[in-house]
Amino acid sequence: MIYFFYFIVILLGLIIGSFINCLIYRLKNKQAITGRSFCPQCKKQINWYDNIPLLSYFLLRAKCRWCRKKISLQYPLVELITAMLFLIVFIATYNLQLTTYNLLLILRNWTFTAFLIIIFIYDFKYYLILDKIIIPAIIIAFIFNLFFYNLLNLLLAALIAGGFFFLQFIVSRGQWIGGGDIRLGILIGLMLGWPNILVALVISYVLGSIIGLGLIITKRATMKSTVPLGAFLSIGTFISLLWVDKIIEWYLNINLYGF
Ligand SMILES: [Zn+2]
Repeated sequence: MIYFFYFIVILLGLIIGSFINCLIYRLKNKQAITGRSFCPQCKKQINWYDNIPLLSYFLLRAKCRWCRKKISLQYPLVELITAMLFLIVFIATYNLQLTTYNLLLILRNWTFTAFLIIIFIYDFKYYLILDKIIIPAIIIAFIFNLFFYNLLNLLLAALIAGGFFFLQFIVSRGQWIGGGDIRLGILIGLMLGWPNILVALVISYVLGSIIGLGLIITKRATMKSTVPLGAFLSIGTFISLLWVDKIIEWYLNINLYGF
């Protein structure tokens, strides 16, 4: 039975991944979200049987049926990664009981994950955090978490994470941090609550420093290179969304034994 659930979750992830690809393309090109998909090169409509997540990419051998131009590897990659993350969320969240609470928690974590994937890709590709994504995400995160946290806890987390970036914004006069980062801080505060938001910030900064240093050492970046902070924050938020309790437990154990 559980494998049947896994199968359904993977299918759902592939469909959401396909939708995310479409959304990112349309946001970038300022097009309406609704309407049939078309080839970005020749603008011809894509038949439904050429628009099956993952499968169509391979059946078409990565080329458009009409103009034979290459389809970006981003499309199957995002679909595959979304499906994997949806499965990981399900395995980490499902407690083998079909209670309303548990189902709501799974639905919440999938929704947050989808938003984090969009934020990650957009910031990674274009160094931008869009209000068109962040504002709806803030509203949805707030409503979802009214079921799981008390109001004060949520507001405190949003204030601290937003304030943390706002301070950097003031100190650097807008050089290190943009307005989008402040709103992203508020969003991840609302997604995680207090004190989980602290864990996410620490993970994101550690991860960013390791990757940044790696790029500088291998001369693929300099100290002045732009950092997709939103991409790192998305990863940190995802990790603490699923495993914050385990991370805190692990951290307390380390301190207990004096390592
Ligand atoms: Zn085409």
